[in-house]
Amino acid sequence: MKRLALFAIIAVAIVAFFVFDLDQYLTLAALKEGQATFAAWRQQSPWLVAGGFFLLYVVVTGLSLPGAAIMTLAAGALFGLVTGTVLVSFAASLGATVAFLVSRFLLHDLVQQRFGKRLKAINEGMAKNGAFYLFTIRLVPVFPFFIVNLLMGLTPIRTRTFYWVSQVGMLAATVVYVNAGTQLARLDSLSDILSPELLLSFALLGVFPLIAKKIVRAIQARRVYRRWPRPARFDRNLVVIGAGAAGLVSAYIAAAVKAKVTLIEAHKMGGDCLNYGCVPSKALIKSAKLAQQMRHADHYGLEKTDPRFSFRQVMARVRQVIRTVERHDSIERYTGLGVEVLQGYARIMDPWTVEVKLNDGTTQRLTTRSIVIAAGARPVIPPLPGIEEVGYVTSDTLWEEFARLDQAPGRLLVLGGGPIGCELAQSFARLGSQVTQIQRGPRIMPNEDEEVSALARAALERDGVTVLTDHQALRCERDGPRKFMVVDHQGNERRIEFDTLLCAVGRAARLRGYGLEELGIPTDRTVATNEYLETLYPNIFAAGDVAGPYQFTHTASHQAWYAAVNALFGNLKRFKVDYSVIPWCTFIDPEVAHVGLNERQAQEKGVAYEVTKYGIDDLDRAITDGAAYGFVKVLTVPGKDRILGVTIVGEHAGDLLAEFVLAMKQGLGLNEILGAIHIYPTLAEANKFAAGEWKRAHAPQRLLKWVERYHAWRRG
Ligand SMILES: Cc1cc2nc3c(=O)[nH]c(=O)nc-3n(C[C@H](O)[C@H](O)[C@H](O)COP(=O)(O)OP(=O)(O)OC[C@H]3O[C@@H](n4cnc5c(N)ncnc54)[C@H](O)[C@@H]3O)c2cc1C
Repeated sequence: MKRLALFAIIAVAIVAFFVFDLDQYLTLAALKEGQATFAAWRQQSPWLVAGGFFLLYVVVTGLSLPGAAIMTLAAGALFGLVTGTVLVSFAASLGATVAFLVSRFLLHDLVQQRFGKRLKAINEGMAKNGAFYLFTIRLVPVFPFFIVNLLMGLTPIRTRTFYWVSQVGMLAATVVYVNAGTQLARLDSLSDILSPELLLSFALLGVFPLIAKKIVRAIQARRVYRRWPRPARFDRNLVVIGAGAAGLVSAYIAAAVKAKVTLIEAHKMGGDCLNYGCVPSKALIKSAKLAQQMRHADHYGLEKTDPRFSFRQVMARVRQVIRTVERHDSIERYTGLGVEVLQGYARIMDPWTVEVKLNDGTTQRLTTRSIVIAAGARPVIPPLPGIEEVGYVTSDTLWEEFARLDQAPGRLLVLGGGPIGCELAQSFARLGSQVTQIQRGPRIMPNEDEEVSALARAALERDGVTVLTDHQALRCERDGPRKFMVVDHQGNERRIEFDTLLCAVGRAARLRGYGLEELGIPTDRTVATNEYLETLYPNIFAAGDVAGPYQFTHTASHQAWYAAVNALFGNLKRFKVDYSVIPWCTFIDPEVAHVGLNERQAQEKGVAYEVTKYGIDDLDRAITDGAAYGFVKVLTVPGKDRILGVTIVGEHAGDLLAEFVLAMKQGLGLNEILGAIHIYPTLAEANKFAAGEWKRAHAPQRLLKWVERYHAWRRG
């Protein structure tokens, strides 16, 4: 009842304010107009005018009415800098507290009851760090004043804390505004607008949020660095831990801008991508594809043949490919670029010191202004009972293990239906293994749309892979030399015999053993970073698989640019990492390439979309090449030429996607793709034809009717 009454009073006051047009008095023009009158009143009864102003300020802010900013300027104009600041500082804090209490009284219980569970993390955060958080948003006034008051009322912060933190936090902004107001008072003619004092005051108004942000950063930094002694000077500008894609690119950028940089690699230069990931897997895929094409050579008018090959030779070629590519990532190349490369295991000792256990057994300590953690990820081994007894390979070990084999492993059990599992399952099936692939969920490649998963499954099954979805691996068993995986399918247990088990159930960021725990750097599945890729310590950054959320070589390099630039120049300008257009491709045959949103993601996010689909089976070049399958599927904003996402399934889909990646990045639409000349006959024409489908569906029907009449009239 009390709540209802208070709500009614406030509602009436707010409605009256707008109905009686009272906001007209809280404008810059009204302020200027009434300035002389107010000044006269103030001469007559200074205490009364100051008291009245104070009260009015409390009412305006307490009721969350618009006008607090103008009143702050007015305080400067009427009372001068010191008195104006004192009046506004107390009135604003008091008014803010009134609004805060009103919000708490009316809404706190309701909101906490309804959303308590979801607000748990916020409540805990506020209880622990609420004062500092409030101080930050008061000092950097990016959120409107009244919204902060109302929202804070919904949190558990104490009223007393709210009052004093608000007063201290707002003081700097108050001084800047009141000061601008004092200059406003002197503005009598147009030429005054250009007076240096006025320009300075308003420039101060503009740059204040930036300065305030810097102050907040400095305060935050002091808090986290408190327990660490800072070296007086640094040996290096940057130390990079890990020489995979993220580390190499970070070091490259640092050297290119003439920073002193050290890159530390514990194992192999080039990291996962070169040694265990993209490069060997793509080399394997190529051999496997050729073998498959030989089997189906009759599709091309040639005699089909069962490919005869030594698996050992195939694996030797994989190694040769790695050797050819590895010079791009070699110590020699990076040393030549100006990077100091150390071979050893790095450990972060404090925010500015990295200790390296060098491979020759010695230890070296480096001091550095900044650190980029690019320690990557490793394959996850599922905790299945008996797994160690039966043995297994992962993407890390299979290249070496299989190099010894004359034939592809006989019965290969692939655990996992993600991109890596699918690429390897298909390749080994094509190279002669009898592959069974187990996936816990209902479909393989679950991040893609259902029809894509279905196509991928059909492609794998066509190549002889037995795909078992909705199968949960329970345990491994051994019976003499025989090995089994026990799986659950719809409540029934089943034993699947295998010779080799390949675990491809995902890769987990490397988070232990190199100092994150000791420094208290928060981790979840990855190292926690902000949008600048800074960890808890603003001079320690993370990029690549260790930082997530993506696990690709190209995203690792993309992040590396931000990490390196922010690490080296962040005190001047920091850049937020841009994840707006992230492409990826799964290199099964046919390839599945993807950028932006697919239907599943759009539905999950509640984004409205239109689908345009072009079937590649209709494309001349695909027909000539015997690759007439797959599609280009484009999601656009309904009724607009704005691309939301694209999925391409087909031969060279990963290459074809580049045009859409560029279009999305540069804000180009399907009209532009349609307007660009595509060479005939190429697979890239599929992109143009997809754009053509979209255009046809959006043809202006009414206008075309008129054009038809025009042509009829022209014919006579
Ligand atoms: C089979 C497979 C296929 C893949 N195919 C593709 C693909 O086609 N396209 C694609 O984009 N991505 C692919 N990926 C993913 C890609 O390989 C990774 O996303 C990429 O390598 C990540 O690079 P990174 O620099 O973050 O980490 P990594 O390449 O893992 O490098 C991290 C490096 O840090 C080193 N390190 C760790 N800790 C320390 C320490 N304390 N001191 C010193 N050194 C340390 C490690 O030894 C490692 O060399 C594939 C991955 C696999 C496994």
